[in-house]
Amino acid sequence: MRSTRSVIVIGGGISGLAAAWQLRGRADVTVLESEARIGGKLRTGTLAGVPVDEGAESVMALRPEAVDLATAVGLGPALTDPAPAPVTVWTRGALRAMPAGHMLGIPSDPAALAGTGLLSDEGLARLRDEPERPAGPITEDVAISDYLIGRIGREAVDRLVEPLLGGVYAGRTDRLSLRSAMPGVARVAERGEPLLAALRGRPRPRGSLVRGIAGGTGRLPLAVAAESGARVLTGTTVRAVERTASGGWRVQAATADGPLLLGADAVILAVPAFAAATLLRPLAPDAHIGLSAIPYASTAVVTMAFARERSGLAGLPTGNGFLVPPVDGHTVKAATFLSNKWDWQAKAAPGHFLLRASVGRAGEEHLLERTDRHLVRAALHDLHHAVGAIGEPVAARVTRWDRGLPQYTVGHAERTARIREDLARLSGLAVCGAAYEGVGIAACVATGLAAALRVSEG
Ligand SMILES: Cc1cc2nc3c(=O)[nH]c(=O)nc-3n(C[C@H](O)[C@H](O)[C@H](O)COP(=O)(O)OP(=O)(O)OC[C@H]3O[C@@H](n4cnc5c(N)ncnc54)[C@H](O)[C@@H]3O)c2cc1C
Repeated sequence: MRSTRSVIVIGGGISGLAAAWQLRGRADVTVLESEARIGGKLRTGTLAGVPVDEGAESVMALRPEAVDLATAVGLGPALTDPAPAPVTVWTRGALRAMPAGHMLGIPSDPAALAGTGLLSDEGLARLRDEPERPAGPITEDVAISDYLIGRIGREAVDRLVEPLLGGVYAGRTDRLSLRSAMPGVARVAERGEPLLAALRGRPRPRGSLVRGIAGGTGRLPLAVAAESGARVLTGTTVRAVERTASGGWRVQAATADGPLLLGADAVILAVPAFAAATLLRPLAPDAHIGLSAIPYASTAVVTMAFARERSGLAGLPTGNGFLVPPVDGHTVKAATFLSNKWDWQAKAAPGHFLLRASVGRAGEEHLLERTDRHLVRAALHDLHHAVGAIGEPVAARVTRWDRGLPQYTVGHAERTARIREDLARLSGLAVCGAAYEGVGIAACVATGLAAALRVSEG
């Protein structure tokens, strides 16, 4: 490292901690986190006496950053594959398995959908038409539905793609950017090629797409923080970031014990876009505008434990869970059968069956106005209809993620490019996190590592 001897990382989620870890041994790093605990959206709590993930529950295995980081901080032996199971959609009155080979719900082979009941005969016929439809190249970013409805038809978008995007982004196809939320599909669209043939031609990933961490993904931020050697101050909310006359940085924070003033050679903002927008307002007006324009979706995770031996329990669900298209009008958008999906989870709670249901996509904030008790009842109601009577839980917890997932709406890539351009003027300052180049943990880790390199290079 040239002259950066001290770095303040604002935000103790996985992005900020990855940045701190990357700087280990090369700078004196202080992580400031407003909550009482580090980890952000990676949080493992306990329910019925066993660990359960209340936020993220797996990391992407198709790209290496999260798996590599977990391995580097000693969690390699804890990495674990989910039980093999098809993506299942609760739609048209039943649980229906999606044939393999789809990309975020876009099927590569319409023939494989026959007999699944996922689409009506008309919807299937419309999908089969895709190769015959003219495919002029698109030249600018559009909403996913604006492109996809023209290619595969509304029904396929509503019943196959919406549930996947609701699961990953808590987003909707009429708002999310084709370029940023489906870059692989956008490349086909920009070349003006028929879509399904292009998807069929791409290499199929081998093995599991995601991996879990035995004991909970909440172990990852704790291990990264420990291995980083950084000083971590929780309960410390940053209120202002200022340039000093000597070209360094001054950070003002609020703590339970009163205000805190810290100085450093460099600062990394690893906070959600709305928090970064506030802190950057006096320093970078264009970045402030761009960050303020990134909307967020709120979600709630309802985790429940059922006693396996409880009398009256009709049966336990099979498979790893299901996704729900908004067009069917149910409250839950997804359910994960944790005890089926993760071997470690089943072993940790042999007497219990653990599952979680998620509620809330972009535009569904009204669903989250209910009390916790009502959310549990609504989730149980949907589960009973989807999988049959599963009885009453012996324990339930609602975890709310207010403004938890950034929405990559149309124009997101240009917006982030402008933010980064404005910030490039400010040496010794970098941003990272879910707001920029991917909401998944692996993408967040990548931005954290890149931010650390940027401030090290001056
Ligand atoms: C319910 C849910 C489930 C998910 N599931 C998955 C999954 O299975 N797999 C996957 O890959 N991704 C998943 N994601 C997405 C992924 O978990 C997040 O995008 C990622 O963890 C975000 O990390 P981050 O460090 O960028 O932000 P955050 O985790 O939001 O961390 C930012 C931190 O900054 C702190 N902060 C904010 N303002 C200030 C301030 N002024 N001063 C100090 N600190 C501040 C916050 O308290 C927070 O701890 C999920 C997200 C949610 C909400």
